[in-house]
Amino acid sequence: MPRRMVKLLTAVLCASAVVAGSAAPAQAAEAEPEVIAIDLLLAGSYTDAVRDAMDIWNDAVPGIRFVEQDTPAALRVKEYTTATGTGSHVYVNGLGRGWVYLETGDATVYRPSRIAVHELGHILSLPDLGPGSPCSKVMSGAWAGPECTNDQPDAEETAAVAAFFAAYDVGDPVPGWPDPVDR
Ligand SMILES: [Zn+2]
Repeated sequence: MPRRMVKLLTAVLCASAVVAGSAAPAQAAEAEPEVIAIDLLLAGSYTDAVRDAMDIWNDAVPGIRFVEQDTPAALRVKEYTTATGTGSHVYVNGLGRGWVYLETGDATVYRPSRIAVHELGHILSLPDLGPGSPCSKVMSGAWAGPECTNDQPDAEETAAVAAFFAAYDVGDPVPGWPDPVDR
């Protein structure tokens, strides 16, 4: 009750307070981007490619923001090597969380930033598109062939991510993945 009285008094005595008050709702209407904390401590030779991929997604979808931190995050990136030289993939532990495994042999065949944008796409809820999918989409992945160097998601892909984040929050279950577990 005393608070309300102070507010009333302020409104009566100070015209600039009324102006400031009327500006507040317009600012509140612009939603803050959903922050996705990520660390690159284990990203090795993929570090720059993943930073590029984070920038690409941050620019493409205003409602999300990958933010790198220098301690282990709920989303981690690990460079690794297999005998066959393929196998970049992710483990999604809830929206925006989990592991991105980037294989070093893949980087000699495919554009590293395209690999990273594709795998981060999974972290953002997008599924693989499979055989026959075009180079214009980042979720076509290896199906578009090594000659495809496009690392920019198309309008449909960015709209799908924006729509998913409008409906769900970081940590929520993602279709096709197990229910998230605490690590
Ligand atoms: Zn994939």
